[in-house]
Amino acid sequence: MEIAKVIVDVPVKQTDRPFDYLVPESMREWIEIGSRVGVPFGHRTVQGFVIDLVPRTGTESFKLKPIQELLDIVPPLSEDLVELAEWMSERYASNRIMSLQVMVPTALKGKAERYISLGDALDGQKAASDSGEEVLFVWGEESTSEKVQQDIIRFVKSRGQVPLQQLSRKYPNHAALIKKLLLGGVLLESQAIKDKLNKKTMKSIDLAVDVAAAEEALTSFPAKAQRQKEVLAFLLEMKELLPMAMKELLSTLQVSAATVKGLEEKGLVVTEDVEVFRDPYQGRKFRATEPLNLTDEQQHVYNNINGRLQERRHGVFLLHGVTGSGKTEVYLQTIQRCIEQDRQAIVLVPEIALTPQMVERFKGRFGDQVAVMHSRLSGGERYDEWRKIREGQVKVAIGARSAVFAPFSRLGLIIMDEEHETSYKQEETPKYHARDVAVKRAQQHQAVVVLGSATPSLESYYAARSQSNDEFAPLLLEMPTRALGNKLPEVRIVDMREELKDGNRSMFSRALHKGLEERLERGEQTVLLLNRRGYSTFVMCRSCGYVAGCPECDISLTYHQRSNNLRCHYCGYAEAAPEVCPDCGSEHIRYFGTGTQRVEEELAKLFPGIRVIRMDVDTTSEKGSHEKLLKQFREKKADVLLGTQMVAKGLDFPDVTLVGVITADSALNLPDFRAAEKTFQLLTQVAGRAGRHQLPGEVFVQSYTPEHYSIGHASQHDYVSFVREELLHRRNLQYPPYCRLILVTFSHEQLPVLIRLAENYTRILKEQANAAGWLGSLDRFSNDAFDVLGPVASPIPRIKNRYRFQCMIKWRGDVDAIGLALATARRMDDDVQAQKLQISLDVDPQMLM
Ligand code: ADP
Ligand code: ZN
Ligand code: ZN
Repeated sequence: MEIAKVIVDVPVKQTDRPFDYLVPESMREWIEIGSRVGVPFGHRTVQGFVIDLVPRTGTESFKLKPIQELLDIVPPLSEDLVELAEWMSERYASNRIMSLQVMVPTALKGKAERYISLGDALDGQKAASDSGEEVLFVWGEESTSEKVQQDIIRFVKSRGQVPLQQLSRKYPNHAALIKKLLLGGVLLESQAIKDKLNKKTMKSIDLAVDVAAAEEALTSFPAKAQRQKEVLAFLLEMKELLPMAMKELLSTLQVSAATVKGLEEKGLVVTEDVEVFRDPYQGRKFRATEPLNLTDEQQHVYNNINGRLQERRHGVFLLHGVTGSGKTEVYLQTIQRCIEQDRQAIVLVPEIALTPQMVERFKGRFGDQVAVMHSRLSGGERYDEWRKIREGQVKVAIGARSAVFAPFSRLGLIIMDEEHETSYKQEETPKYHARDVAVKRAQQHQAVVVLGSATPSLESYYAARSQSNDEFAPLLLEMPTRALGNKLPEVRIVDMREELKDGNRSMFSRALHKGLEERLERGEQTVLLLNRRGYSTFVMCRSCGYVAGCPECDISLTYHQRSNNLRCHYCGYAEAAPEVCPDCGSEHIRYFGTGTQRVEEELAKLFPGIRVIRMDVDTTSEKGSHEKLLKQFREKKADVLLGTQMVAKGLDFPDVTLVGVITADSALNLPDFRAAEKTFQLLTQVAGRAGRHQLPGEVFVQSYTPEHYSIGHASQHDYVSFVREELLHRRNLQYPPYCRLILVTFSHEQLPVLIRLAENYTRILKEQANAAGWLGSLDRFSNDAFDVLGPVASPIPRIKNRYRFQCMIKWRGDVDAIGLALATARRMDDDVQAQKLQISLDVDPQMLM
């Protein structure tokens, strides 16, 4: 193929299309779909990805420029990932280059030249071929490619490191072979000396001459260099195992480095730095675990998933299992089957730093076959894990949302734990949701997706229950009881309005206070959750629980201190902040917000000597701090673990018998139509932390609106009733899952200009939708619908001196809302250019505040 279609790394709308480049003769064999290349663009050289290769038709421009350089030998992206990127760009209205970039590790985005050196797989190769196992490279059998291979290895070895360009020029016709050597670990690709990644290396030693010459040298060795002779004789004896670790040689023979140096000066041996993979979990012992005998519920679920796995057919399952039902054990055993099929598995977790126990369980079962893509790894460490995956050295990749791009070639299973978590949605471009990407990717590979949660997202649950013909619709599997047979903890709701009435102005109710006292006496532990997301301020009456809400949108109004008024962040409705409660006339009406620090101070005052571990963004910013704090708590170095949502997730401590939620309502009143759903999820999660083992658990949920259905149903552990009620609200107000949303955000330095342009956009959008016959049809009976709300000021109205406005598109059915939103943005390109307007689209937004 002579023409390459390249997406260049110039992330603006005007360049968001493939550009044609000539593939020079010398690169023909090397360049593939997914290759990263350097190409001339304007007056400079930029990076790009090859997304297609086509023959010359003769109609191309004469001015086609050739690709300048190939940046890696093994393309960082496979063809299926390139295809996935294309799909993502359309699905999330994002630039193609951003979709491609998000799939490769940051380390590969640098401009540094690539070098090739020898890998350490040669030893393994030789050992394996001796034992008769199937190997990639057969030693001893002479063929042309065998000769070339030896030649290449010798060439690289003699130079230590060869620039990639040099190697491809020297062996232009052996691209396939060199790629094979790279994938087999015989050769290594790196960013060489200036490498900001600082590859970890090991000093090793090898013969510099062939065996015959070495034996020859041995016979005529000068008598005074006995030690050197000893080393040489030893190396010859061990010739099958060369190169060997220098350390090993020195300690076995008890010789000094100077001795080796002498040999090196005679040209008989070479020492070199061989790269070793950095394993971030190196030195950590993981308790090995054996598969458990599944309970009946688990067995049923397992049979279903495994059935589909054996058919090697695409399928999506929604596993709704209560906290402690043993979902993880099901994951582990299905992965086991997947590995036995010689396929690979991806495990997605909401935030890997918060799930050390999850990592432990996977490492415990699968050991070295697991790569952990930890967000707090260094760039180099992450690159190593990525490469282990690509080279097939591991079978399981576990990580947060971007692990969905783990470059496995035989993907069989993708597991997404806590599928309802918002962190699966990326908030920067490309604003993808890992759940949708997982389903798409699994489809490409005929793989199975398992979405697990105790509180599935309404979108997933609704899709599963409505049994549509959509092939993406998940099949519902349920595990309603705990695997160990213990009951879900008793949850008591405490009405904080009553507390105030009885003269208790503290943030702790009498019941929670007493509970804490008892735990301190008995030496048991408590988890306290301060339910606070973002820094939203809403107005609430402490006497009756009244919260100011928008009459149009059914979300709480946000308090604006400067103007002393309340505003709706969806539609723009505004009213003056009340002095007294409009419902009960009380003066105890004020805007809300309590910090963890204040709770900590109050605890210290009420319970002198109490030991508290506070876990929030302030105390966990350092690498490894989460793990450290949790370890301290597990070792019972504290009585109370106090924190934000971080304390709710996946933790399993035997001595925690009390869980307290300081104010359940604070998330309920965020200006977000998912507020009730998120509150229900959080309460269910945190309640699941108590009494997981022998000791029974107790949960206190403090609330000013205890009659709210999300609090009531959470206290009964009743997901289905909650969903039924919540779906009614969503249907009445036309929110997902009954429609889909696109959030369009505009920003500009000058407010009047911004408002004018945002209004322009909305107007054009409406005109177009009207012309297509879509507009205004958003009621609950029509299959196709399209509606636009706004423009209004964004919840965060100014960031970095730029004002922000937004509008929200609601749509469903066959209307091409994404295409229209994007096309309208394109039509405003002139404003974007001339006025420095920024427009960004968020398809299926999760964060609405
Ligand atoms: P989930 O992930 O659904 O919250 P876990 O997988 O953490 O639940 O399981 C809860 C507890 O039950 C764990 O301590 C786990 O070891 C135990 N467990 C799970 N399955 C079994 C089983 N089949 N037999 C015995 N114990 C089990
Ligand atoms: Zn009131
Ligand atoms: Zn409103």
